[in-house]
Amino acid sequence: MSFTLAPQAPAPLAAASQNSSLVDPFGRTISYLRISVTDRCDFRCVYCMAEQMNFLPKAELLTLEEMARLSRAFIARGVRKLRITGGEPLVRRNVMWLFNELGQHLKDGSLEELTLTTNASQLARHAEGLAEAGVRRINVSLDTLNADRFAEITRWGRLTQVMEGIAAAKAAGLKIKINTVALRGVNEDEFDRLVEWCGEEGHDLTFIEVMPLGEMEGAARADQYLPLSMVRARLGRRWTLTESTHRTGGPARYFDVAETGQRLGFITPLTHNFCESCNRVRLTCTGTLYMCLGQEDSADLRGPLRAHPDDEAPLMAAIDRAIAGKPKGHDFVIERNRTAPAVGRHMSVTGG
Ligand code: SAM
Ligand code: SF4
Repeated sequence: MSFTLAPQAPAPLAAASQNSSLVDPFGRTISYLRISVTDRCDFRCVYCMAEQMNFLPKAELLTLEEMARLSRAFIARGVRKLRITGGEPLVRRNVMWLFNELGQHLKDGSLEELTLTTNASQLARHAEGLAEAGVRRINVSLDTLNADRFAEITRWGRLTQVMEGIAAAKAAGLKIKINTVALRGVNEDEFDRLVEWCGEEGHDLTFIEVMPLGEMEGAARADQYLPLSMVRARLGRRWTLTESTHRTGGPARYFDVAETGQRLGFITPLTHNFCESCNRVRLTCTGTLYMCLGQEDSADLRGPLRAHPDDEAPLMAAIDRAIAGKPKGHDFVIERNRTAPAVGRHMSVTGG
C-alpha cells in the first residue's frame, strides 16, 4: 500500500524556542519593540537630519505586510509594547493599515500597548483613526512654542500645523507626551513656559538630551549639548519636582510637578547609565534589528523573512541569535574636539 502526504501548512510557531520569551545574555527580558516604518520625513530638524538627505530606495524598505509579520513574530515571543516611529511614521503611505493590523493584537490581548512617536504634522487627519485602531498614548516632538524658532529648528515645519495635530489628538482622546530636545542657546529660555503649557493642556513632558548620532553638515553638536542635570536644577527653582516611581525600562527618569499635576521626564543617555534595565530593541524600515541605540550591533531580519515566506522558524532563529548578541550597554561621548559622531547612523534610521 502506498499513499502520498498532502502538502502541509507551515508549522504555526510550534517549537519550544518559538514560544519562549526573549531573554538576553544579561538576563534582560525584551518586551518592547520600536519599529521605524520609514526613514523619510517632512521636517529636517537640525539635530536629526541634514537638509539634503539621501533616503533609501523604496525597494529596500519592508512592506507594511512584512512589518506586520515581523511584529507578529515578536509578539509571539513576548513583546508587549510596540512603538511606531521613523523618520516621520505618518508620512508612510497606508500606515494606518499597519496600525489597524497591529491593533488586532490589542483586541485579542496579546499586545498591551501600541503607540507612536510623531512630529504631529499629519496628526490632524490621522488622530481619529489612531484612536480607533487602539492607540491610547502618543509622543509628540515639539521643541518650542515660538513659530519662528520652530521654523528654524525643523527647517521645513510649520508650528500651526503641528498645533492643529496636537489639538486633534487631544480631541480624539489620545494622551499626549511632548518630547523636547534641550538645545543650548536655542530653546533653553522656554523650558518653564513648556512646563506651564503642558500643565494647562494636560500633557506630560519629557526633555531629551541631544545625542551624538549621525553625521550632518554644520551642526556643532558639542555646542548644542545641554546637560539635563542643569535643566532640572533650573526648573527646580520654579516648580516643585518630586521624583516619581514611574519607570519604563528606558532611559527616562520622571518627576511629578506639584503645580501642574503633570509628569516631567528627563532622558539622559549621555550622563546616565540606564542599560541594566533595557527591555527594548529597534527595527529599522529595512528590517535590520538594532539591539542597542548606542552600538552598531545589528541583525538582518529581512533576509530570513523574505527567504521563507511560509515558515517562521528561520525568522525566529534569527531573532534568537540577535537577542543573544544584545550588548551590555553603550558609551556615548560628546567631546568638544571631536567632529565624528559616536554612532554614524541618524536617529531617523533607528527611530529614537
Ligand atoms: N519624526 C518623529 C518625531 O520627531 O517625533 C519620530 C522620529 S524622531 C527620530 C524620534 C525622536 O528622536 C524625536 O523626539 C526627536 O526629537 C529625537 N531625536 C532626533 N535626533 C536626536 C538627537 N540627535 N538627539 C536627541 N534626540 C534626537
Ligand atoms: Fe523628522 Fe522627527 Fe527627525 Fe525631526 S526629529 S527630522 S521630525 S524624524
